[in-house]
Amino acid sequence: MTDNNAIELSIVIPVLNEADSLKTLYEEIVVAVSGSGNCEIIFIDDGSTDASLTTLMDIQQNDGRVRIIKLRRNFGQTAALSAGFKHAGGRIIIPLDADGQNDPADIPRLVARLNTGFDIVSGWRKKRHDNALTRTIPSRMANWIIARITGVRLHDFGCTLKAYRAESLKCIRLYGEMHRFIPALASWGGERVTEIVVNHRPRTAGKTKYGLNRIFKVILDLITIKFLASFSTKPIYVFGGLGGLSLLGSFASGFAVLYYKFLDPEHLAMNNNPLLVLSMILFTTAIQFILMGLLAEILVRTYHESQNREIYIIEEILESNGRQE
Ligand code: UDP
Ligand code: MG
Repeated sequence: MTDNNAIELSIVIPVLNEADSLKTLYEEIVVAVSGSGNCEIIFIDDGSTDASLTTLMDIQQNDGRVRIIKLRRNFGQTAALSAGFKHAGGRIIIPLDADGQNDPADIPRLVARLNTGFDIVSGWRKKRHDNALTRTIPSRMANWIIARITGVRLHDFGCTLKAYRAESLKCIRLYGEMHRFIPALASWGGERVTEIVVNHRPRTAGKTKYGLNRIFKVILDLITIKFLASFSTKPIYVFGGLGGLSLLGSFASGFAVLYYKFLDPEHLAMNNNPLLVLSMILFTTAIQFILMGLLAEILVRTYHESQNREIYIIEEILESNGRQE
């Protein structure tokens, strides 16, 4: 590092009504990063209605490294993190929960691991201190499914505490509850992802912000990212495939109808023949699927071209020195 003012670490903390945890957490962070280079601590106030913001402003008065991003209303944890990532200037970015459940003492270990040649180091809350019925068990199942479907073998996607090399967040755009899928998206983009066990502590103040309905959102997000990753450049393969299957079904029942009509009329119940209706419905569905696929192809082109997004990611281009254009 040649630039002495360059920020080494950006700690990014989404805050929704956590007034009673913030001071202790801040103090723990200060201790944890004391051995690291320059750092900044970014709190994102995600529309808190308690004393969180004034508490943060108090903290900021005595520490110039503290930055506060106040969102206009509650946009959700993923959006808050996203705002923090966008404004973070550090070489390494470390998100962390504001409720004190993540232990800032883990930060140096995450950074050390990152520096051994990874782009993302994810925290694994091996010993979780949360309600078993509403948190730990659903999360176990969710993690198992996410690991199988994404092919990225992490034990704990939901842990906020992770370490990212800043560049690894650059091409990722977040929606819904998707912050937990960053390692999967990054890994699909060719980044090196690993995990280490981190400490997890019970919540000592404030209340959890989530109920069981988060499970459904996570599953829907999973379907979305899987679909986008696998087929976002070729949607016609999905819709066309489904259309083809419907068409096959339609022909099969159509032939069955003809068979019964001409070759086996005894078994044909003329006034109540479901196969004819089935054949017609499947035929219409097939046409719809194929047209939807074509429509999606148009959308995909708009998506990629309007954002100048390529369908590949280049790591670097190596030219020989004497090369002429
Ligand atoms: N959070 C947020 N906006 C929200 C919900 C949560 O910024 O709409 C923050 C919250 O303040 C905490 C973190 O996200 O710092 C994780 O939330 P919580 O502890 O409630 O989740 P849990 O640990 O129960 O999964
Ligand atoms: Mg929590």
